[in-house]
Parts: sequence; C-alpha cells; structure tokens
Amino acid sequence: MKATSVQPAVRYAIVPKSPAAHLFEVTVTVSNPAPEGQRFTLPAWIPGSYMVREFARNIVTIGATCRGRKVALDKLDKHTWQASPCKGTLIVTYEVYAWDLSVRAAHLDDTHGFFNGTSVFLRVEGQEHAPCEVDILRPRGAAFRSWRVATALEPAQGTAALDFGRYVALDYDELIDSPVEMGTFVHGTFKACGVTHEVAITGPVPNLDLDRLLRDMKKICEAQIRLFEPGASSRSRVPMSRYVFLLMTVGDGYGGLEHRASTALLASRNDLPVQGQARMSDAYRGFLGLVSHEYFHTWNVKRIKPAAFAPYTLDQENYTRLLWLFEGFTSYYDDLMLVRSGVIAPAAYYDLVAKTVANVLRGSGRLKQTVAESSFDAWTKYYRQDENAPNAIVSYYTKGSLVALALDLTIRSQTRGQKSLDDVMRALWQRYGRDFYRGTPVGIAEDAVQPLFEAVSGLDLSDFFATAINGTRDLPLASLLSRVGLTLEPVTPDNARPSLGVKTGKRGDEATLTQVLDGGAAQAAGLSAGDSLVAIDGLRVTSGNLDKLLERYRAGDKVTVHAFRRDELRETVLTLDAPEVSQYRIAETRDRVAAQRREKWLTAK
Ligand SMILES: [Zn+2]
Repeated sequence: MKATSVQPAVRYAIVPKSPAAHLFEVTVTVSNPAPEGQRFTLPAWIPGSYMVREFARNIVTIGATCRGRKVALDKLDKHTWQASPCKGTLIVTYEVYAWDLSVRAAHLDDTHGFFNGTSVFLRVEGQEHAPCEVDILRPRGAAFRSWRVATALEPAQGTAALDFGRYVALDYDELIDSPVEMGTFVHGTFKACGVTHEVAITGPVPNLDLDRLLRDMKKICEAQIRLFEPGASSRSRVPMSRYVFLLMTVGDGYGGLEHRASTALLASRNDLPVQGQARMSDAYRGFLGLVSHEYFHTWNVKRIKPAAFAPYTLDQENYTRLLWLFEGFTSYYDDLMLVRSGVIAPAAYYDLVAKTVANVLRGSGRLKQTVAESSFDAWTKYYRQDENAPNAIVSYYTKGSLVALALDLTIRSQTRGQKSLDDVMRALWQRYGRDFYRGTPVGIAEDAVQPLFEAVSGLDLSDFFATAINGTRDLPLASLLSRVGLTLEPVTPDNARPSLGVKTGKRGDEATLTQVLDGGAAQAAGLSAGDSLVAIDGLRVTSGNLDKLLERYRAGDKVTVHAFRRDELRETVLTLDAPEVSQYRIAETRDRVAAQRREKWLTAK
C-alpha cells in the first residue's frame, strides 16, 4: 500500500464506456497545468515490442475543459496535443478504440477488458515524474457486476485487492508499465521465495489443472530468483513486492510482454494442462517457456537495461545494438530454467536447443547480418519482416540465445568450471539492475558490455565478440557442446526429398511460395515469392501433395515447373537441390568427466 495523503497533481480515470463499441473513456485531471498551455502526448511504441505503432491513432474523440469550461486543445503532431492556457484544474477527456487482441495494446468487449497504459494514458509533459492516481471504473450494467480487476498497480487505501477503485503509481513510467485486466478471470496465487505471485486467466479453459500450472510456475520463478540472488534468504532478494501474470487464452495465439512487476501473456487454451493428464506436452512446455522468458525479463531488460532505455523515449525509436543480450540471453535462460527447475528433463532441453540450432542455420541472412546489427535495426527489419527476411536478417532472439549458450560453455571451459554466464548475469544485476528503481536509473553503455564480461570471467573475449556479436561466422557449437559431453548432429529423415529451396504456404488448395531462399533451386529457375505452383512434370501440384510428389525425385533431377505469377502462367526447368537439413539432434556421450561438467551446467549446483 502506498496511500498518498496529498492529492497527486495528475489523476486519471478510465472506464469501459462501451464494450460493444470497444471504447474506453479516459480523463486526465491536471491540478497545475503548464501556464503557457499544457501539452499531452501518447507513446508511439510500447517497451518490449520494438516497433513504432502510433497508438494515438486509436483516439477517436478528445476535448478539454478548464475549471469546467470547454477550452481549445490543439493537435501539434500525430500524438501531441496542447491545451489553451488554464489557471486552475484542466481536464482532458478522450475515447480510445480498443480492439487489438494482443499483449501490446488494448482490447475491450463484453467478455473482458485489457489495456496497456501506453495505449490509454496521455503523458502530462513536465509532470511525468510525479506520483499519480488512476480510478479504474466498472462498466455500467448488471452484466458487469461480477467483473474484477487484476494489475500490479497498488490499490489505494479504501480499494480492496482485485476490485474496481483507485490505484496509485510512483510516476508515469510505473503507470504505463502496469497493464490491467478486468473481467471474470480465474485467479490463482503462489508464493515464490516468500513473495505473492498472482495468475489471472481470462477466457474459457475447460478442465484446467490450475494446481499443476501454479506448481510449475512457482518452480520456474524460484529458480530464477535464486540465480540472481543465490546468497540472500529473505524475500528482499525478490525485486518486487508482488508479481502478476495476466494470461489471455484464445483458440490460437502466442505472445508475451514483460513489465517490471507483471507480464501480459497470450496463449492457446490448448497449451494449458488438463486435469488428470500428467504428461508434459510440447504445447505446455512451450507455454512454460513463455512464462520463463517473460519472468526472466524482470531482471534482464526491466532492471538491467541498455543506456538507450534509461529512460525510454516513447515518441520515437530507441536504438541499441544490445538486444542480443536482453532478448537473446533471456531466450537462452528461459529454456535452461525449465530444466534447472526440474520442470522438464535434460533430454527435452536438448531438443529445444536443437530446434533453435535448426532455426538459425536455416536462413542465409545469418551470414549477412550480425546480432548487433539485427538489434539496431529491430524497428524496421526484425519487427517488419517480409518474404525476403530469411535471406536478409538474423534473429537476435534465436541467434542471441545460441551466442549465450556458446559464451556460457566457453567461460565454463576456459575457467575450468570456476565461472559461468550465471556470474556475468549476477554482475550485471548487481552493477545495474538491483537499484534501478531506487535513485537515478543507470543503463549499461553499448561499449561497456565486453569489458564487464571480461572482468567477470577473467578471459580475453575479443575474438568471441568479433565473431559472435560483430561477425556472422557460425558458432562452433558442436565443439563447445562436446566439452559437456553432448554431440550435435544433423538428422536426415528416411524419406529425404529433394528441395525446391522455398518455403510454401496454402492459398485454398494452392501451394504458394512464401519465401524463396537465396541460391536455391527455385530462385535459379526464376521463381519468386508469391508465385503459385501449378504442376511439376505435368502433374498437378496442390498444397497437400507437393511433398509426396517430390519424394519421387532425387537431388540433381531436372523437372518442368508450371507456376502462376499473378495471373500469368510461366514454365521453367528447375534442377532439384539436395534435401534440406531441417533437424538436428543433441545427445549425451559416455564421457564421465564431461558428464560432471554437464551436470553442473544443467543444475547450477
Ligand atoms: Zn523477450
């Protein structure tokens, strides 16, 4: 509780005004507006999702009053307004259209409401560092009497937990970093290292095994808390006093966005465990990986941050070359924490790593773009991928996680097990993260990363940084994995069919080319993304029979291909490529010494 006796200078109120029309109504009340005319701005992007999304385009109507009388509110640019000078209380009222079922924006209908502050709360320029209040109001009508509220915001005195009412934030940054869910969600709690963690699950999930879900989530959270604060024993080692998982379930969907004391998750209801079924499905494992990923961000990116994010500038792109560290290392630890917490077995972890290896090695873009460049260009490339993406870019998530794996195994090997990437993460935490929200926030400078890694490990990492971070050469994963008694090998399937050098998709029954890989058979034969295959050697191709048809050929065979580009038929002769390596296998060797190193890595003991 952070009850404020003085009335804060900025107060917000938000009400689901019309669930049917997907409209929230928001008011901002400013007691002491700027004398020259108060300015208001809505963020253009939401931290964690590095793309300019222009949230202000969803503001439908907006107006202002000064001491109860209507005053002018001039629009200065796409997301900034300025009110006429006002001596007294200035109130801005606006409607926000909320029909984006993702973790990044806002969504409202008669089943639930969800919003990120970045979509709904105008920043009062000059007053963003002051404490603020927000009244979260119940929609009118009998149908909404059973709705509740879940958020990491603290209820003010007089507001009960999970109820509509008044909530408080230390400043604008905390306000917009605390998404809110309202509706008839299922609510569960568990304690991790003594701190309450809440889970609010929206949407129908028949026969949900909530106990199992909470048990598994607790294990993952505690493993992460212990990673960053192994020595401490009290709840003070947990970076927040309460944590909230807001989970929206749908038929098909996947996503998560991290916040300082909460996360918004979107998942398929089929990913969640069913009562009476004890097995670990791939889908549930994937969901727990998402939980683990977003929770790890509590430390890595919500507190340990690049200098470019300390503070965020929300009206434009914030450039950093370090997303490989903040997203890639988080992607490495998300799965590693599943095995360290005992939620999955080592063999399942090897499969996850092998999938990432296959994923990274698939695209030739990895030979053209470094993870540092991929980070910098996230705004225009990673987040705005087109059909040429595999030929042009590398993911700072997947390649970044392999960089973390390679670095962890390198440090472990070269220090004879004395140091590891865990020590690097703890050093980052102690130096930058632990006190981020206490006092002046400091982020890590772009050129301070390598020296810090070297100081912690005691190693010269210049070659590693030159090749893995600032270079495009493939990482020596097979030899590094052998140090911990693991082999990494490509898997050739029995029915290996030759390759067209494309990725295909369905358009009705048609097989359409979604991606044409650089240097592949289809590109050499003049085929392009968007083309629809009609026939191979005079036999009709459909999205259902293409693979079977190709199994009748061998690499090097020439086939006549008919395809439509738009409505124009073209004919070409294509020389089939060797089968693609789309899978890898990681397996244990019998090396006993290496097995001890592996044990230490996978258990962190
Ligand atoms: Zn992430």
